[in-house]
Amino acid sequence: MAIIVQKYGGSSVADTDKVMAVARRVVDTVMEGYQVVVVVSAQGDTTDSLIQQARAISERPPKREMDMLLATGEQVSIALLAMAIDSLGQPVISLTGAQGGIMTDTQHMKARIREVDGARISAELRKGQVVIVAGFQGMTSTHDITTLGRGGSDTTAVAVAAALRADMCEIFTDVDGVYSADPRLVFDARRLNQVDYGEMLELASLGAMILQPRAVEVAAVYGVPIHVRSSFSRKPGTMIREVNAVEREISVTGVASDANCAKITLAGIPSNVNVLHNVFSALASEGVNVDMIVQAGTASPTADLTFTVTREDRQTALDTIAGLEGGQDWDVICDDDVAKVSIVGAGMMTNPGVAAKMFEALSAEEIPVFVVSTSEIKVSCLVPRSRHQDAVRVCHKKFELHAGK
Ligand code: ADP
Ligand code: ASP
Ligand code: MG
Repeated sequence: MAIIVQKYGGSSVADTDKVMAVARRVVDTVMEGYQVVVVVSAQGDTTDSLIQQARAISERPPKREMDMLLATGEQVSIALLAMAIDSLGQPVISLTGAQGGIMTDTQHMKARIREVDGARISAELRKGQVVIVAGFQGMTSTHDITTLGRGGSDTTAVAVAAALRADMCEIFTDVDGVYSADPRLVFDARRLNQVDYGEMLELASLGAMILQPRAVEVAAVYGVPIHVRSSFSRKPGTMIREVNAVEREISVTGVASDANCAKITLAGIPSNVNVLHNVFSALASEGVNVDMIVQAGTASPTADLTFTVTREDRQTALDTIAGLEGGQDWDVICDDDVAKVSIVGAGMMTNPGVAAKMFEALSAEEIPVFVVSTSEIKVSCLVPRSRHQDAVRVCHKKFELHAGK
C-alpha cells in the first residue's frame, strides 16, 4: 500500500476546530487507500510563547533546557490530533520524535537529523494505524531531546518520507502553495505550479519561510516529491521536484527577502589574505555563519572588509573580532538596519543581464545597495531595512512575476 506523509503547520492546528478539520482530512486520505504518517507542529504561536517564557527567566537559557521546553509544544499537538482522529473511529497512535526514531546530532536548537529509524513507524502502520509523529524534535545517541531549528517540522516530514520511501510528502500550510514572492508582502504574487529543488532551496535559504531549507535539501538528496498546499482548501498547490531544463522558460522564478541580517565592516584592515583567513576562521570556530562578503581597496596596503551575519550572531561576531590580534585597533562598524533581497531562478544561468535589470529596478526607486552576492541561480542585494518591502515589490514588478513571464 502506498505511503503518504502529511505535515500540518502551526496555523493548521491552531485551535480545536482546526485540529478536527485536520483529523477529517487525514481520515479521508486513509479512505483513499493510503497508509498515512502525519507530522505536526506546535499549535499557533506556541513556540514563540515558550521562547518568551524562557527569556523572562534568563537572557541566555542553556540550549539543552530550551530544547526540553520547546519540544513540549509539538507533544501537545500530537496528543490532541490523535484524540481527534480516534474520535472519528480511526485507529491511531502518536509518537514523540524519539519514539519515531528521529536521531540527531548534539547541536541543541539547530540539530541535524542523522538518521531516521523507521522500524516503529512501519510496525504501527502495519497494524492499520495512522501514525502521528511530533515535528521539530529528535533525540541524540545519548537520549537527550533536541530541536531542529525554526520551521523544523518540515524537515521531520521530509526525512520520514525519505526513510519510509513514501510516495509523497504533503506540506499543509496557511497559503495554497509557493508564490513568486511572500503573498503577505506582494499582493499580486503568483502561485507557482512547480518549482525545482535547486530553486526552492535558494528561495528557502534566502528567506522564503514557507519551507525550512534543510527540508528541501533532504528532499533533493532522496528524491522526495513535496506538494505544498493549503490546509483550508482541497485545491492542488505547488509541486517541488526535479524540473528538467526544457521545461524552464523564465529567467527569474521568485523574489525572497530576509530581514534577519547585520552588516559588519572592518575599515582599514591590512590588505592581505592572512588577515582574511584569521577573521573568518575565528568566526567559524565560534559557530558564526558568514553570508555575504565583499572586500574593497585590495590594491592598497589597507582594505575595507564587509560581511553579513544573522542578528543573533552579531554580538558573538563583534566579540570574536575584538579578541583577534590587532582587532582592537580596527575601525568596526555594525549596521543592523539592513535586509537582503534576492531574485532566484534556474533560468538565470542562460539569460545574461538579469543582475543589471535588478539594479535598474532598485535604482529607479532610489533604493541603495550596500553589498551584492550572486550564484548561478540568484542575485542578492543588501538594502536598508526600511526599504526592503519596496525592493521586493519593485523586483517582482520588473521581472513581471505576477504574469509568470
Ligand atoms: P507553517 O506554520 O504552516 O509551517 P509558515 O508560517 O512557516 O507556515 O510558512 C507559511 C508562510 O510563509 C506563509 O503564510 C507566507 O506568508 C510565507 N511565505 C514566505 N515566502 C513565501 C512564498 N514565496 N510563497 C508562499 N508563502 C511564503
Ligand atoms: N514549532 C516549530 C516552530 O515554530 C517548528 C515548526 O513549526 O516547524 O518553529
Ligand atoms: Mg513553517
